[in-house]
Amino acid sequence: MSLNRRQIIAGASLTTWALAQNSTSPIASAQAQSAPAFQQAPSFYRYKIGDATITAIHDGYGETNLENFVRNAPLEDVRKIAEQEFFPKDKVRITFTQVVIESGGKITLVDTGNGDSGAPTAGRFMANFKAAGFDPAKVDRVVISHFHGDHINGLRLKSGTAQFPNAEIVVPEPEWAFWMDDGKMAQAPEGMKGAFNNVRRVFAPIAKDLKFYKSGDEVAPNLIAQAAFGHTPGHMTFVLSSASQSLMLVSDITNHPGLFVRKPDWAVMFDMDAEMARQSRRRVLDMLATERMQVAFYHAPFPATGHILKDGDGFRLQPVQWS
Ligand SMILES: [Zn+2]
Repeated sequence: MSLNRRQIIAGASLTTWALAQNSTSPIASAQAQSAPAFQQAPSFYRYKIGDATITAIHDGYGETNLENFVRNAPLEDVRKIAEQEFFPKDKVRITFTQVVIESGGKITLVDTGNGDSGAPTAGRFMANFKAAGFDPAKVDRVVISHFHGDHINGLRLKSGTAQFPNAEIVVPEPEWAFWMDDGKMAQAPEGMKGAFNNVRRVFAPIAKDLKFYKSGDEVAPNLIAQAAFGHTPGHMTFVLSSASQSLMLVSDITNHPGLFVRKPDWAVMFDMDAEMARQSRRRVLDMLATERMQVAFYHAPFPATGHILKDGDGFRLQPVQWS
């Protein structure tokens, strides 16, 4: 039997129609289940550093304009790198990854994500944290790197609810001194006053219970804080060491490795002291490359961990292979 073209097309659409009507057809039900949702599996990733277990937890992303994102380079130069890095046209996507450290019998969370105060594409931390098997009531300690909203808002929802009711909250002393200074707030440009108010909103109810740390302190078992000022006045990074392995948590040393690992002299619009931030960035990236130490980023494509290599006048990120 031979069919002409019209019969084939008619037959094909009838078959499709019949499948669509027949809910018991495996093809039809598979289509019905997968078609409407565009959703990933829960986003967490575990790895070991010596005896410590690290779990990277994804909080989602926010998107902003490329224009003005880099304070000290012509837009054309920034566009060129952004195109090489396959960014969306004239946009940059900033991802947020928090790290849970299980070490010395304690559960430590470093930074908390956007809570319910970020972009609609962010605020996924708690769902992913629970999907990874963690209970927020069992977190022993929350260590904060600096006081920008994407790092502290996950501590307290807009309703006022504390998210880690039993955790000790550990914050950098110089960061506290800056943001809680009413004189500094009064001098700040109008656009920054919201950030000062947000610090008060998040921390005021627990101010008397906060623990403060400075550069060089052990803020959790085997986790040492290291000053990396510039992005904010008290911005901190951390080195976790366990059984001859090390991991450096670089906080906001870069806001996107595609731009600022490649071009470490570029300053992101959020760097409060651009020159100091540049020096901190160069020092940290150079140390990572020289010592071949694994790095965990706060703002890098998930799971936001890898190694740093020297590349010309800058560096590049070699992501770890998913295991
Ligand atoms: Zn940040």
